[in-house]
Amino acid sequence: MDIKENLTQLTNEQFGLAPDQCSDRQLYEALLKLTCRMAAERPAPAGERKLYYFSAEFLIGKLLDNNLLALGIRDQVRELLSGMGRDLNAVEEQEPEPSLGNGGLGRLAACFLDSIAALGLPGDGVGLNYHYGLFHQKFVGNKQTETPDPWLEQENWLISTGKSFTVPFGGFDLTAKLWDVAVPGAYNNYANRLHLFDVEEPAAPPESGINFDKTDVVHHLTSFLYPDDGDDQGRLLRVYQQYFMVSAGAQLILQELEERGYGPGELADHVAIQINDTHPSMVIPEMIRLLTARGLSMDDAISQISRACAYTNHTILAEALEKWPVYFIERVAPQLVPIIRELDRRAREVSSDPTVAILDNNGLVHMAHMDIHYGCSVNGVAALHTEILKKAELKAFYDLYPDKFNNKTNGVTLRRWMEACNPDLTALIDQCIGPDWRQNPDQLVGLLAFIDDEHVLNRLLAVKQSAKERFCRELRDVQGVELDPNSLFDVQIKRLHEYKRQQMNALYVIAKYLEIRAGRLPEKPITVIFGAKAAPAYVMAKHIIHLILCLQKLIENDPAVRPWLRVVMIENYNVTWAEQLIPAADISEQISLASKEASGTGNMKLMANGAVTLGTMDGANVEIAELVGPDNIYTFGAHSDRVIHLYDDKGGERYRPVDYYHTPKVEPLVDFLLSPELLGIGDPYSLAALWRDMKGKDWFMALLDVEEYIAVKDLAVRQYGDRKSWARKMLTNIAKAGYFSSDRTIKQYNEDIWHLG
Ligand SMILES: *Cc1c(COP(=O)(O)O)cnc(C)c1O
Repeated sequence: MDIKENLTQLTNEQFGLAPDQCSDRQLYEALLKLTCRMAAERPAPAGERKLYYFSAEFLIGKLLDNNLLALGIRDQVRELLSGMGRDLNAVEEQEPEPSLGNGGLGRLAACFLDSIAALGLPGDGVGLNYHYGLFHQKFVGNKQTETPDPWLEQENWLISTGKSFTVPFGGFDLTAKLWDVAVPGAYNNYANRLHLFDVEEPAAPPESGINFDKTDVVHHLTSFLYPDDGDDQGRLLRVYQQYFMVSAGAQLILQELEERGYGPGELADHVAIQINDTHPSMVIPEMIRLLTARGLSMDDAISQISRACAYTNHTILAEALEKWPVYFIERVAPQLVPIIRELDRRAREVSSDPTVAILDNNGLVHMAHMDIHYGCSVNGVAALHTEILKKAELKAFYDLYPDKFNNKTNGVTLRRWMEACNPDLTALIDQCIGPDWRQNPDQLVGLLAFIDDEHVLNRLLAVKQSAKERFCRELRDVQGVELDPNSLFDVQIKRLHEYKRQQMNALYVIAKYLEIRAGRLPEKPITVIFGAKAAPAYVMAKHIIHLILCLQKLIENDPAVRPWLRVVMIENYNVTWAEQLIPAADISEQISLASKEASGTGNMKLMANGAVTLGTMDGANVEIAELVGPDNIYTFGAHSDRVIHLYDDKGGERYRPVDYYHTPKVEPLVDFLLSPELLGIGDPYSLAALWRDMKGKDWFMALLDVEEYIAVKDLAVRQYGDRKSWARKMLTNIAKAGYFSSDRTIKQYNEDIWHLG
C-alpha cells in the first residue's frame, strides 16, 4: 500500500473521513500513527555488540517531521497534503514538544540516537518517561513563572512493550514499565529504540505550579525531570529516579543478552554502556549486583562491567559533579552500599591518593570517580574541555589511567538542524554542490568554490532574510511582539546560567541604550534576542531574566531608542523555538567564561545555518575558530589558562570585580541597574541583588571581559553593513560546519570506544 492509501484507510477508520475532510489535528493523529507504525515495523540493526546509551535526559523535540524525513516519505507526504490544499507545517504544529531534557546535554543524547540509527549501528537509548518534563516558562510581571508541561497526549509516540521489571528499593519494590519510542535510521531500513521507563500509576499533574509531594515516590518518581534539588526531599527523589532508571535498564540489558543466546559472563563481548554524565553511574554497582546474583564472582563481574562501561564528562563546574551521601543510597538502594564499599576498597589499592577515592571522609560517594575507576573510557566533549580534564580537573585520574582519556567533540544532527529546519538553505546547498553532503557532511566545504559567486552570495542573504521574516511572523502570532526583520539579529539562546554570561550581554544592551540616548546611533538597527529558562531554584539566574525583561520593556516604551535597538526574550525557549530561530540568526552569541562551557552545541547549529559566532575561546568555539579562520569569527576575552589562574587561590592574583567596575566605561553600565528608569519598571530588590553580586562577587567574571566584548560586538555590527563580505563569512561558516555533524562524533565513539562491529 502506498502512503496515500495508508493515510486514507487510517482517517477512515479513526474519523470516518477522507484525508481532505480532516482537520489539521486529525491529520496529525493519522500521520503520527502511520509513521509510528512504519518505524516500529523496521528491524533493529545487527551486530556482535549492542550499545545502550544511558541518559537521564533525551531532549528529542517534536518527532513527526524528523521521522517523516528518516523514513524517506517527507516530500511525498508534503506533496500529498498540498495536493489537497493542506500544509504539512500546519499539521506538524499540532504536535506537543516532549521536553525530556534541560538543554545541551539532553539534546546531545537525542542527536546521538538520530546518528546511531542513521549509521545503521545497533544502539538504544535508556531513560525515564517524565510526564511533565521540563516546566513551561511564562513571564508574569517581568519574571519567570513555571507551570507543568503535560506533553503526553492520548495519541503519542510511545509503543507499549508489555515488558516490566521490578526495582528493589529499600523497604519496597516498584515496577518499572517499559515504553519505547522508535528511532528510524535515515538512509537505511533499520530502527533502534529509545527505552523510557515509567511507574505503573503516575500521579496527576500538581494543582498549581510545579510543586508536588516529593515523598510520594511511588506515584511521582517520573513526574518531573530533575525535581528541584534545593532541598533534601528533592535530592533524594533524584536518587530514586536514578536507581529506577539504571536498575530497570540493567535488567533489560541482561534479558536481551540472554535472548541473543549469551550468558552473563559474556556481557562485555556483546554490550557497550555509555554513561552520559554521572546521572546513570549507579549502573556500575547495580550491574555488578545482578551479575553476581547470576553466579559470577565479584572479580569477574567487575571485569565485565569495566570493559562494557564508558563515561562522558560534561562539565568542569565542581558543583555539578554529583556526590551523594552514602546514607541516601543506604535508603534508596541499600543492596548497593556493600558493593560501592568494595569498589572503593579496590580503588584505594590502586591509589592511596584520597582525592581519587570513591567514598570520601564525609561519607559522600563521588559518582564520577566510580565511573573513571570502573569504566574503560573517559571522554570530554571538546578538545579544550578534554585538555582541561587531563591537566586540571581530573589530573590525578589522568596520571593513573592515561589510556582511558580521550576526546569526542560534540556534534549535532544536520538532518534536524539544517535539512528539516532550514529547507531554503538546504535547497541552495543542493543546487551548489548536489545532495551527497547529507551522508558526507565534509562535502559542505565544496561551497567554498562559490565564495566569489555574487549570485550565490545574494541568494544566501535572501535565504537568511526570509528566515528572519518567517521568525518575525511567528513571534508576532505567538507572543505579540513585532520585530524589524531588517535589523541585525543578535541571538543568545541557551539555558540561563551565570557562566554563560547573559548578564554580560545585558550590559552591552545598556551600553547601546545609553549611547543612543546620548545621540550616538549604531551603524545598523540591532535586535538582541534571548531565549533561556532558569532552573526554578536558581535565584541569580532569575535576577538576570528579570533584568533582561526590564530592559525589553524600557526600550519598548522609548520611541527614541526603539528604532535602533530592541531586546526580546522568547517565552518558553525549547527545541521548537530553536528550530525557528536558528535559521534567522545573524550573530551567534557564545560568550561563556573561558574554561566553563565544556563544548556547546548551540554554537554548531547556528554556524551551520550561517550565523557568525561572537565568542570566547571556550568549548567547541576554539575548534570553530580554527576551522573558519579569524576573518569569519569574532573572538574576545580572557583565555582559559588565565581564568584558571585567576580562580587559583595559590596564584595570589584572585579576581576582584571592583577593580574592573571602577573604570569610566564599566561603572555606568553596572550602576544603570539602580537607575530610576529601571527601578521604575522592575523589582528593586531583584535589581539591587544583581547589582551587588556584579560588583562584589561576579563569580563568572563578566566585568573582566565586558569592555572587550562591547568593542568586538561594535566591530561585528559595523562589518555586518558590508553585505557581500558578510555573506562570505556566512558561506564559510556553513562550509566548515560538516565537522560538527553528530554522525562524525558517533563514528568516533564507535571506532574508539564501542566497537559495535
Ligand atoms: C542546542 C540546544 C541547547 C544547547 O545550547 P548551548 O548553547 O550549547 O548551551 C539548549 N536548548 C535547546 C532547546 C537546544 O536546542
